[in-house]
Amino acid sequence: MVRWLLAKYLWPQSLAWIGLAVITYHFFTPSLARFASLGADDVALLWLRNTILMTVVIGGQHWWLHIRKAQGTEFKYETRWLATDRKSFLFNNQTRDNMFYTLVSGGGIAALYEAIMFRLYATQSIPQLTSLWAIAVMTFVVFWFESVHFYLNHRLLHVDPIYRWAHALHHRNVNTGPWSGISMHPLEHVLYLSLPFLFLLVPGSPFIATFCLVYLLISPSPSHSGFDRFKIGKSATLHGGDYFHNLHHRYFEVNYGMLLLPLDKWFGTFHDGSQEAHEQMKNRRRCSTETGNTAQLGTGQLAS
Ligand SMILES: [Zn+2]
Ligand SMILES: [Zn+2]
Repeated sequence: MVRWLLAKYLWPQSLAWIGLAVITYHFFTPSLARFASLGADDVALLWLRNTILMTVVIGGQHWWLHIRKAQGTEFKYETRWLATDRKSFLFNNQTRDNMFYTLVSGGGIAALYEAIMFRLYATQSIPQLTSLWAIAVMTFVVFWFESVHFYLNHRLLHVDPIYRWAHALHHRNVNTGPWSGISMHPLEHVLYLSLPFLFLLVPGSPFIATFCLVYLLISPSPSHSGFDRFKIGKSATLHGGDYFHNLHHRYFEVNYGMLLLPLDKWFGTFHDGSQEAHEQMKNRRRCSTETGNTAQLGTGQLAS
């Protein structure tokens, strides 16, 4: 477990998100004092920062993998590319549709949440950690908090009619790309990005608020990239996509959480891609069809 945690979970992606948050907070975020009297311009500034950050990091992955096609379909989960002529997407184009929801709704709501947290810290209205060591430890604890937070809000999003109103929009992306990661309905963004509000009760810090949001905005891009591994040079590869979540996009009612905590195992919705797990999923579907509970299934998914 320790080896998996260090070599697979933290290295390289989770550590990269911490590094990215440190750079974002120290070099590209206005000083805390500014937020004591919160105005629309402060939120707009954070929104602009989020837009630039996402365009560089998510757009960079999209350009490398899906436009330049630098590694072709090597390590790609599906051989087909992203949809460019499908009516279910805004502008009939999956990438443009995904960019719209990510940059406008995702980046905007994240900016608003971060500004609210900054205001509360600037006015010393919520408990705040001051020791660097405590902030460092809490930064790692965020990964576990997020595992539970994501699992709970994701399960809620699969309950009808919330699924139809909100989460179905994310699930139009069966074949995913980097911009699909947080291409969500605004209602889903309201829930998904609410992690920093946990620190209204638990002592945190302004950096941790920024880290939560950078992590939530950026980390789904490699996991939805469509590629299991990223090629570096001729033979080296880096861990890329999240096969576990890719199976959620394929089969809908499995793998609601992340691998850090075995919540899906505990609640009987685990699918590791094996034939055995697939048979268990089909049995669950049969039972739920017999009891008339088919509301959560996406159209056309039963054939998978
Ligand atoms: Zn889902
Ligand atoms: Zn997803």
